[in-house]
Amino acid sequence: MTAKSKRLWHFNGGLHLPGNKKMSTGQPIARARLPKHLILPLQQHIGEPAEPIVKAGDKVLKGQLIAHATGYVSVPVHAPSSGTVVEISEQAVPHPSGMSAPCIVIETDGHDEWMTLPKPVPDYKKMNPSALRNRIRETGIVGLGGAGFPSFIKMNPGARMSIDTLILNGAECEPYITCDDMLMREHAKEILSGLLIIRHALQARQCLIGIEDNKPEAYAAMVEAFENIRKQQAADTDNIHILKIPTIYPAGSEKQIVTVLTGKEVPSNGLPIDIGIVCHNMGTAVATYHAVMRSQPLVSRIVTITGQGVKNPCNLDVPFGTPIKDLIEQCGGYTEEIKRMIIGGPMMGYTMPTDELPITKTINCVLCASEQEAPDPRPQMPCIRCGECTKVCPVQLLPQQMYWYSHAKDFDKIQDYHLFDCIECGCCAYVCPSHIPLVHYFRYAKTEIWAQERDKQKSDIARKRHEFRQERIDREKAEREERMRKKKEALKKSQGGSNELDPKKAAIQAAMERVRKKNEEIGINPKNTDGLTEEQQRKISEVDERRKRLQQHEKDNEHSINTPID
Ligand code: SF4
Ligand code: SF4
Repeated sequence: MTAKSKRLWHFNGGLHLPGNKKMSTGQPIARARLPKHLILPLQQHIGEPAEPIVKAGDKVLKGQLIAHATGYVSVPVHAPSSGTVVEISEQAVPHPSGMSAPCIVIETDGHDEWMTLPKPVPDYKKMNPSALRNRIRETGIVGLGGAGFPSFIKMNPGARMSIDTLILNGAECEPYITCDDMLMREHAKEILSGLLIIRHALQARQCLIGIEDNKPEAYAAMVEAFENIRKQQAADTDNIHILKIPTIYPAGSEKQIVTVLTGKEVPSNGLPIDIGIVCHNMGTAVATYHAVMRSQPLVSRIVTITGQGVKNPCNLDVPFGTPIKDLIEQCGGYTEEIKRMIIGGPMMGYTMPTDELPITKTINCVLCASEQEAPDPRPQMPCIRCGECTKVCPVQLLPQQMYWYSHAKDFDKIQDYHLFDCIECGCCAYVCPSHIPLVHYFRYAKTEIWAQERDKQKSDIARKRHEFRQERIDREKAEREERMRKKKEALKKSQGGSNELDPKKAAIQAAMERVRKKNEEIGINPKNTDGLTEEQQRKISEVDERRKRLQQHEKDNEHSINTPID
């Protein structure tokens, strides 16, 4: 069960960065104060946005379902506190693009009153994995490490897949962020209980818990909690290992921690599950424990509020939808050094223009950075092909080549260099002596390729629609012709299948024959009327007229046979 008994591996590159973590670990996790308004985006996860089932004026209780999931890759949203829905409207949300999105706004009543929750599961081991996944889904749990992928999907290995290893990611390698560190220190038992539940859902053979060696308190708390659980539930704790891993950025990235703990490489464009490994976050494990053992939906998370720009950096348990400015206020407000506000850490985070944005399921840190912590970007210079970026890339990409093709907008070529394997860790840009914002170029290229892909999909749909239409027209034509053919055949059959004409046609032909004979009798050639008397000419025109009528009649008769019946 210790690091001594398990071998560790290294991934390529990486950086030793100043952690700056101590400033927010000096005090225990506190509960965030309830704000007057909670702003809840309908999309706080990867996938389809949830759909509201409440309207303005509705009273809601804490934990009540307010928006249900739509589609498979989607999760519901629950009220983080009791109050009244005041509006459902577009609001500014935390996103690198600065966009707004549909949100449910709740005016809190200050009582923070829970709804009547369903009965907790007395023994999760008696639940089948599918029922367990449904419970996880209904409680709105997504990966709390930052990606926000619905957790129930990651707990579903599929019918043919067997999971060998479940990894619990306690690396938290990005500077400044300490929410997982504090969670391990204070809630180790819940984390391990959540781990056992996830393990049951996945039926994983072994569990590996990786904790960076710059978190000795967290490691000790986890080991102690594990020993306590082991004494009570011996059968469940087989093949669980808590491992100290070297502190190097980005060890907490999913593919990198897989390599460090198992020595296996996740294939290009692949996922850990492709090699029988599933990775979950510390916060996700706690949320799973609450969902199964307490029947509580996910309504809050731990957020690190830190940086030289805030007076009292700390970790807060924050109800979703709480505006960031309320949290800053609770932390004593801004210092004079505040320069910019970053959501996430300094390496992978993004700058926000305002603090009026709400906390969502994927926000783990608000960094109130000073000038020294987040200096303005320096002027970009040409690439000198020094190769420093390649040395530090943990995915073994060629950032300078990718930069070149992104700059040239050669989006086919850049994909040959595995652009989509880039985890946007920022190591390459951090070491670049020419101050090239490499990650911006890679994000730009990805966005353009996605846009092109969307356009292509649209034109493919239009082409397919046209092909279907043409196919339908051709099919209808063929069916019409077939009907005509059958009709003619039936007609022939009704005439006894012989060469006899039908009575109408026979009558017409007999009449025409009589006209011809009459002409012969009176010695008239209807085509030559020279030298004929007036009487003879009149008779000829009468006969000719009659012949024409008969011919027209014959034509009409023919047409009625050929006209299709629709
Ligand atoms: S580190 Fe910068 S200058 Fe050096 S090769 Fe990479 S992109 Fe070019
Ligand atoms: S941002 Fe992408 S290219 Fe740059 S070091 Fe990280 S993974 Fe490699």
